Amino acid sequence: MNPNASQPEPPVASSTKQTVLEVRHLTKRFPIGNALRQKHVHALNDASFIINRGEVVALVGESGSGKSTTARLIARLIEPTAGDIFLHGRNVLKEERRSASLRYRRAIQMIFQDPYGSLNPARTIGFHIERPIKIHKKSLDTRQAVLELLTTVGLNPAEEFAQKFPYQLSGGQRQRVAIARALAVEPEVILADEPVSMLDVSIRMGVLNLIEQLKEERGISFLYITHDLASARYIGDRTIVMYAGHMVEGAESTELMDQPAHPYTKLLLSAVPNPEAGLASKVVQARGEIPSLIDPPPGCPFVPRCPHAMDICRQVMPEKTAVSGDHWVRCHLVSLV
Ligand code: SF4
Repeated sequence: MNPNASQPEPPVASSTKQTVLEVRHLTKRFPIGNALRQKHVHALNDASFIINRGEVVALVGESGSGKSTTARLIARLIEPTAGDIFLHGRNVLKEERRSASLRYRRAIQMIFQDPYGSLNPARTIGFHIERPIKIHKKSLDTRQAVLELLTTVGLNPAEEFAQKFPYQLSGGQRQRVAIARALAVEPEVILADEPVSMLDVSIRMGVLNLIEQLKEERGISFLYITHDLASARYIGDRTIVMYAGHMVEGAESTELMDQPAHPYTKLLLSAVPNPEAGLASKVVQARGEIPSLIDPPPGCPFVPRCPHAMDICRQVMPEKTAVSGDHWVRCHLVSLV
């Protein structure tokens, strides 16, 4: 059952673009404890958003905010407690045919924070990329397909990289291999979970530019997960801010960074260094702790840290309220005006 069925549907980013993926009211609760005293971790609550073709949607928030849970649910690594996932309008959670499930798993690929963890150290780079091509029968000339993919992700000379082993590559090169492997099955959406957070600052930009290039040239959509607002602004067409398992604000990235409406977004932005403002830049002070996700109380999860908290905030979770255009927020400061 949808726990928030009365809530309005999320604003559509743009009716002129083709929606590839849509999630509605996605919710995940992990049971903990024993049969006598069972509790639940509310990892994700009522998440709804769309991703258009050739669009990067950035999910931003602290650890434990529900970003990675969202990606893992969409990748179907875990099953939701409630909610739906649509690919081109078809509800993938209700598809029973194996062929539909395989099609979905090809269309949605995931890359992780630590690419080294998903590469077999005893196998060559060529092997890692060739395998999905063979499994999904994507090319008759697999060798040539491997070389083309390595070239696409900027690993040149491709013949040389195909023969290397993972330990012979830098972190940035390994992340490019992970992207090439995802591309091998010609996906429509790539879920990128903190893809540059383990890389040196000097090579982050190269991977971000590769994502931008794949979006522009191949029309691939990305769900870009990060705790770094600067990279979300750089790469994200739209940004959604998450806090304690809730999506609290979303907008086009420039609008969200320039005109934040939620106190938590303002807090995050105030923590981004601003060289122009120097030491005079104003940091929003937050008190309190991030709330426990185990059977949390009703109301807004930001109450313990919010300088504007009111009585109603402790009782009622704010509804999603339109700020302007595609910009929306969940905060009583806006919804009660
Ligand atoms: Fe603060 Fe209340 Fe808005 Fe939550 S709903 S962010 S507690 S003002």
